[in-house]
Amino acid sequence: MRTGITRRVAVAATLLAAAFGTLITASPARASLPAVDPYQPYVAAADCTSSKYAKPGVVAFRDMTLSRLGGGDSGIVACTGYEHMEGRAWDWTNYTSNPADVARVQTMLDWMFATDDAGNQHAMARRLGIAYVIWNKRIINMYAADKTWHAYTGDNPHTDHVHFAFSWAGALQQTTWFTTSPRPDEWYPGYVPSGSSQGSVVFAGNLYKFVRAADGGIKYWYGSGGAWSGLNTVPGSGDSGTDPVAAVFGGNLYVFTTTADGQVRYWYGNGGPWNGPNTVPGSAGTYAAGSLASAVSGGNLYIFSVATTGTAVRYWYGSGGPWSAANTVPDSSGTAKIASAVFGGNLYLFSTTSTGSVRYWYGSGGPWSAANTVPGSGGDSAVATAVFAGNLYLFATASDGTVKYWYGNGGPWSGLNTVPGSSGSSNRGLSGAVFGGNLYVFANSTGGSTRYWYGNGGPWSTANTIGAA
Ligand SMILES: [Zn+2]
Repeated sequence: MRTGITRRVAVAATLLAAAFGTLITASPARASLPAVDPYQPYVAAADCTSSKYAKPGVVAFRDMTLSRLGGGDSGIVACTGYEHMEGRAWDWTNYTSNPADVARVQTMLDWMFATDDAGNQHAMARRLGIAYVIWNKRIINMYAADKTWHAYTGDNPHTDHVHFAFSWAGALQQTTWFTTSPRPDEWYPGYVPSGSSQGSVVFAGNLYKFVRAADGGIKYWYGSGGAWSGLNTVPGSGDSGTDPVAAVFGGNLYVFTTTADGQVRYWYGNGGPWNGPNTVPGSAGTYAAGSLASAVSGGNLYIFSVATTGTAVRYWYGSGGPWSAANTVPDSSGTAKIASAVFGGNLYLFSTTSTGSVRYWYGSGGPWSAANTVPGSGGDSAVATAVFAGNLYLFATASDGTVKYWYGNGGPWSGLNTVPGSSGSSNRGLSGAVFGGNLYVFANSTGGSTRYWYGNGGPWSTANTIGAA
């Protein structure tokens, strides 16, 4: 694509703010995290007799990975060679012939080798004490000078498993991934840096899409790159008042909507039955024609809603204990639909107004910024976000039913772009997601079908349809 989701280096600084003064509300400051670990020297395994047991760091990484992402276990200790002889390597079963496995592995590798918010390259690999990884005829060494992927020409092509080799420091749980408690959510693979603020979210290796059905129930599909699942229903979700939003927090998938009388309610689960419905205390009076937004920031799960009275944006947060009291985004009255995102260390809240222009606020634990306006917005009836390839994307449904978008990375917003073939979209179900190396945008058709487009910097796909609910 030429005018589409290409990266852009911007110069001025109008999108992101530099600093804030006093605290926003009572949101607790994030605990300071230990500095990222240095790259570990690698020590080849000596033999298969002196230390032949699974090392605790490798066991912990295996267990975390299987619970978070799935895949299979091909073992830690083996006398077949390499670090397996000393219990310092794990073989994670995934097949390059299976698109779901490929997407799952990519989720892990994207997370493990990403640059963190502080600019540390390969941050999670370093915090884990990873020495090297082999997958699909390629190898990346954290103790080599270049630390990039190279062709791997060993006997085993590693097309049926990923080999994770640990340094001794990682194997013995001496690096910061193991010594930090509690760990931030982004220290787990599958964490979605956008805050997964809308009705589409990545969880346990699957992309989930939630919708409010014609009967008011919350329905969802999921998939990992192949066919979508059949239609599922969140139990007890009938008569929901707003479109659902989802978030991943503390190892659980959360989905929020409202009751018919305007209380915010939610369910959560990690693959077993859903827990819920639960209710956010003091949340009655949510505007049914508005929307919800959720985000994970500073170790807290946030839920935003639009108040019926005054149509200001309210929010609550919590970290697993009780929810906070209700808070209000300053000067946010006149809001219709909302979306949130986490980008560049800030929590963003976007809102459409009665005239359809898109406003936004941001903050990082200090006060919220003043209201800003996205240039060229107007006539928009829904908003959604995603963070992709170093840019914050903002999607909106235009008055003519097309999906338009802007992006930026800290400088000015891009000009206005349009997703081709997106006309006929309603103001329902707009959401963004990043999955398997692609940016996705979902928008319901005016007829109620859930449609989506995706791309990775080239042209957008043609319109796809999951189904109607
Ligand atoms: Zn291996």
